[in-house]
Amino acid sequence: MQRFKASLKTSIEAWLDASCVCCQQQLAIAQHGICSRCRREIKRFAYCGSCGTELAFDTLHCGKCLTDPPPWQRLVTISHFQPPLSDLIHTFKFHRQFQLDRTLARLLLLAVKQAQRAHDLPLPEVLLPVPLHPLRQWQRGYNQATLLARWLSHWLQIPCDDRLLQRIRYTRAQRALSGKQRRNNLKKAFAINPKISEIHYRSVAIIDDVITTGATMAELCRLLQKCGITQIQVWCLCRT
Ligand SMILES: [Zn+2]
Ligand SMILES: [Zn+2]
Repeated sequence: MQRFKASLKTSIEAWLDASCVCCQQQLAIAQHGICSRCRREIKRFAYCGSCGTELAFDTLHCGKCLTDPPPWQRLVTISHFQPPLSDLIHTFKFHRQFQLDRTLARLLLLAVKQAQRAHDLPLPEVLLPVPLHPLRQWQRGYNQATLLARWLSHWLQIPCDDRLLQRIRYTRAQRALSGKQRRNNLKKAFAINPKISEIHYRSVAIIDDVITTGATMAELCRLLQKCGITQIQVWCLCRT
């Protein structure tokens, strides 16, 4: 039995054996997905705690936000969309490497902790992953935002609600569209789950991987505000 256990352990270890997603170097702990050298390449930058614009130093509102505030109150992000972070995200989303969820969620957790120090970020009552259309989720096999939100929920002890927001219309991939096309593409794409009659949340954080124009977030903020949710944060891996 002892020998069986030992051989089972070795085979599991062999199965878990993995290399860094960025430089292919052998990893001591496969779960990490990225080696410490590449990890250090993901550098934080100072930004506006409201809109996420890069600044010389951390502040809660930049000049742009004072005249034209975003539809959310707070934004948290890890770094710029550039290697190795962009490679990690791409592999996570499009190559079925869903085990990278822990690596990316960990980086986002550190960004949240940083924002607590740099922007005095209050923690929300609940985490809301951006929903995928059921067909897209079926094609991909998972919703990347939900995987990230579940880890953060576990570490921060904040509930994750993946039922409140729904994607009700199958939309074309946003990547290839212009800003105006994206807004049109998103019309009536989302809804609040009609099965939920009462919403008790006042402060929420919407979790997404990459924010490009912010059109998806703006649409979700509009829906949440209609339900009386006044404090909306956006937590994303990066903004492009
Ligand atoms: Zn590496
Ligand atoms: Zn700003």
